[in-house]
Amino acid sequence: MVGSVILVGAGPGDPGLLTLKGRRALEEAQVVVYDALVGAPILALMPEGAEKIDVGKRAARHTVPQEGINQILLDKALEGKRVVRLKGGDPFLFGRGGEELELLEERGVPFEVVPGVTSAIAVPAYGGIPVTHRDFTSSLHIITGHARDGKPLDIDFEALVRTGGTLVFLMGVTSLSAICAGLVAAGMDPDTPASIVEQGTTPMQRRVDATAATLAEKAAAERVGAPAISVFGSVCALGERFDWFDRLPLKGRRVVVTRPRERAGTLAGRLRDLGADVVEYPCIETVPIVPCPDMARAMERIGAYEWLALTSPAGVSALMDELDRQGKDARALGSVKLAAIGGGTAGELKAHGLRADYVPEVYDAEHLGAGLAERARGRVLILRAELGSPALTAALDGGKIPYDDVHTYRTVYENPRSGELRELLERGEDLLVTFTSASTVKGFVASVGEDFDFSGVTGACIGVQTAGEAGKHGIRTVVAERADMDALVETVMGLGAPPRPAGI
Ligand code: SAH
Repeated sequence: MVGSVILVGAGPGDPGLLTLKGRRALEEAQVVVYDALVGAPILALMPEGAEKIDVGKRAARHTVPQEGINQILLDKALEGKRVVRLKGGDPFLFGRGGEELELLEERGVPFEVVPGVTSAIAVPAYGGIPVTHRDFTSSLHIITGHARDGKPLDIDFEALVRTGGTLVFLMGVTSLSAICAGLVAAGMDPDTPASIVEQGTTPMQRRVDATAATLAEKAAAERVGAPAISVFGSVCALGERFDWFDRLPLKGRRVVVTRPRERAGTLAGRLRDLGADVVEYPCIETVPIVPCPDMARAMERIGAYEWLALTSPAGVSALMDELDRQGKDARALGSVKLAAIGGGTAGELKAHGLRADYVPEVYDAEHLGAGLAERARGRVLILRAELGSPALTAALDGGKIPYDDVHTYRTVYENPRSGELRELLERGEDLLVTFTSASTVKGFVASVGEDFDFSGVTGACIGVQTAGEAGKHGIRTVVAERADMDALVETVMGLGAPPRPAGI
């Protein structure tokens, strides 16, 4: 059976600007064909098993020619695959989306289009420039500044200037002086405000302000490079006042998030929304132990326990999955009381319609153990990872509370991209890494290599046990006031944004 192609706009760079529909298409893709302008955080959404075809490797100078891309889309669809063609910004705006659909249409391959947030509007917006404003302008014109094969620019500057509208040039870095000269020669007031925004909506965004007469000169002096967008018009005068993105508290701060992939999303997203340059390196993975005869046995005699203690959202998932495998649901837990180590675990229980009867004030194994030792009269069932913290069982032992410590998942330290992580560290940057458990520290260290000198790394740690583990490896630590994501984000904010070293 013939497959299909979805042409998806990835937005201008900030992964938050991918549309919901685009994200869904990507998550369901079997083949993803993508361009140079699509950023790493969006590429990270591609399913692990999907075939990934990079047709935009610019640096190596072997971009796949357009006919080649058209052919790949056709061939993969004819193989019966669900293909996503992912393009920067909006697929139709200077994106050759139309050309790519022609062959598919001719050959009867079904296709759909998911428009994207275009850089032409979003990049100025992140630079504080509203492309229209009733007090300044009533039209917007988007022009390509790309000249075909060394030929002069084919732009009707007079017509553009006559509109009095905001002029937005894409692909115009190399031809910027010709654009400025053309506009001024066509009658544009040389003092018209003009700005260029480089790598817009990303942590590397930079805006340079000048006038129609001076923009090219100033951009060259500031070494502005592609991708960049230049804007001409009185709305540019607002850029300084509305410069919200550059003022975000974590702008310029690179933060490594080491949470397991399935849980990284919220922390990474929140840090990104605060302006941080987030690098996601899941250094641990939780793998459920399946089958898990110990858990199955414990579930059969659940009535014998007074408390059931859970120490992570992964533990809750393992429990619910085991019940499901047995053809049961949460009702099988009967009247056993539920203890959760912290807010995240309690939240995961809640997602399954279960309320935690006890959550310690301080979210760690020691306090959970102490709290249970105070409350429990009968037997406690602990469902947690292999090699869980001994502080929990020590507290129960101290209180002479009987318990069963059942291991339902294991934590694997592995990172297929560990080379990249090490490279980042070796560049000598003062790196900030978030650690949400002692095992993320162990995973991070295992991933980089035990022999590495970690003294240039600052670990923002969720709690004292995590910080203790980080300290063992020479990582400088700051500890969140409470063991939850809000406090961890606040801790990172407290460190502020250092000036970014040159060349990064
Ligand atoms: N289809 C895309 C545009 C493709 S043409 C869209 O709708 O956004 C490529 C040009 O887009 C680049 O040369 C640059 O001018 C602009 N561009 C794309 N992403 C950009 C970004 N993050 N910052 C600045 N300019 C960008």
